[in-house]
Amino acid sequence: VPATLIDGRAVAAKVRAEVAEEVEQLGSLGLATVLVGDDPASDVYIRHKHRAATEIGIRTVDRRLPGDIAQDDLLALVEDLNADDELDGVLVQTPLPDHLDELKVLAAVRPEKDVDGLTPRNAGQLLLGRPAHVGATPLGIMRLLTEYKIRIAGARATVVGRSNIVGKPLSLLLLGGHATVTICHSRTEDLQRQTLDADILVAAVGQPGLITEDMVKTGATVIDVGITRTDAGLLGDVDPGVAGVAAYLTPVPGGVGPMTIAVLLENTVRAAKYRRGLLPFA
Ligand code: NAD
Repeated sequence: VPATLIDGRAVAAKVRAEVAEEVEQLGSLGLATVLVGDDPASDVYIRHKHRAATEIGIRTVDRRLPGDIAQDDLLALVEDLNADDELDGVLVQTPLPDHLDELKVLAAVRPEKDVDGLTPRNAGQLLLGRPAHVGATPLGIMRLLTEYKIRIAGARATVVGRSNIVGKPLSLLLLGGHATVTICHSRTEDLQRQTLDADILVAAVGQPGLITEDMVKTGATVIDVGITRTDAGLLGDVDPGVAGVAAYLTPVPGGVGPMTIAVLLENTVRAAKYRRGLLPFA
């Protein structure tokens, strides 16, 4: 039996409908994005985020800065956005150019507005088991697992990729859900040995075809986060042959990607609640 495809577009539509209702109740909401330089992939993501926000009535601010901006000027801009009372969420699109200290810039975002969960405060809250803002991609993946009633507690979960934006926070969320979590990365020896054991296998690398069917346990749930642009379209990290062994699989496109956008809107609503005292922050 081929794997059931997890329909990220459908779940994302459901999330957007929930968020739209909350936006209506909360009144005016604002989300600012900051893009440094002109990376075409980042430009596409930013445009998707703005379109989705605008569609449900969230006001957006699109700040674009030259790739050679000085760190202090960028920090000053972040401070302006922090202080702007019309803005609930502030998102600095990564990766930043090499001359900038990315962690320092991200840490400058006011924690209540940090919808990507990349400030030390929010990352620390997640580590300590009391998450406040957590990034949209890991949260979106957890929502997919819940919607499809995939068992997390007691399951073996292997996360391939250890980035601050996907692999690490997702591993902590799975741990918080009582999975037994293994984190793999570029220096992992014998990746197959780790992946074959997984009831839930997440690939967040950016290398098409990295996960082949001989690396997947029969009946596993496979979450493909990878996005690589090719002439043939978008490719995930998971080889199509995996559909022959997995029970559940997220397609690329149409799996994790739409969830990231929808959950960012949800995070903006949460930010608005923090700022208005409707939800205690951390
Ligand atoms: P990253 O480059 O920051 O991290 C990649 C990770 O993969 C690293 O931790 C590295 O150690 C690991 N890695 C590299 N080669 C490996 C190998 N051969 N075996 C095992 N691990 C290896 O990337 P990221 O920002 O975490 O993104 C990962 C992928 O997910 C990219 O393709 C990105 O475009 C995609 N992405 C998708 C969404 C979405 O919404 N669908 C969101 C964010 C990122």
